[in-house]
Amino acid sequence: MSSRKKVLLKVIILGDSGVGKTSLMNQYVNKKFSTSYKATIGADFLTKEVTVDDRIVTMQLWDTAGQERFQSLGVAFYRGADCCVLVYDVNTPKSFETLDSWRDEFLIQASPRDPESFPFVVLGNKVDVGDDRRAISTKRAMTYCQSRSGIPYFEVSAKDNTNVEQAFEVVARNALAMEEQEEYGGGFEDPIDISLDNERDGCAC
Ligand code: GDP
Ligand code: MG
Repeated sequence: MSSRKKVLLKVIILGDSGVGKTSLMNQYVNKKFSTSYKATIGADFLTKEVTVDDRIVTMQLWDTAGQERFQSLGVAFYRGADCCVLVYDVNTPKSFETLDSWRDEFLIQASPRDPESFPFVVLGNKVDVGDDRRAISTKRAMTYCQSRSGIPYFEVSAKDNTNVEQAFEVVARNALAMEEQEEYGGGFEDPIDISLDNERDGCAC
């Protein structure tokens, strides 16, 4: 009998409206890309089962469903998050400049016990658009990420499926590390942690 808990990782995706959050999730989970602006997924979150090392984990990816305005998401949206993905559009300077506000908003709302070590991942989306339209250089984005406790940074395209898998692999890995740390009293109470495991000498039936 497996002595391991079933792991559910809650991942929050934040960033300005239009940067491609829904598209990235859709590409990652459903392998689909749509150019229509309202890429509605019809749910608060999408789930995907992934393997991290030898562990099978369920990732629950929470989208903002168009409520990107600050403070309109509510505490339930943030509660129990294991990783926060911050998305900007490499061709839109403002979406890069607001990354700090999204990060601060997350830290205030989710209030993890150790904000400094909470796992964030930054994604610079729409790299397929091309260098002539590009507004934020790789160097600038990397400097920003390094100055924020070394946040991992990926340049991605939801359209071309560039780097999407690689980025979410790091999201899953860092979320799992956070979840495991919580089991030893770190992080914060996670109300969505579903333990299907029995105690060592408990009844299996
Ligand atoms: P959200 O508001 O952050 O969820 O952004 P959406 O996923 O709805 O995407 C906004 C628009 O950008 C849509 O028209 C998408 O088709 C487009 N889009 C999203 N990702 C990419 C990308 O990687 N490349 C390009 N060229 N367009 C994208
Ligand atoms: Mg969206």
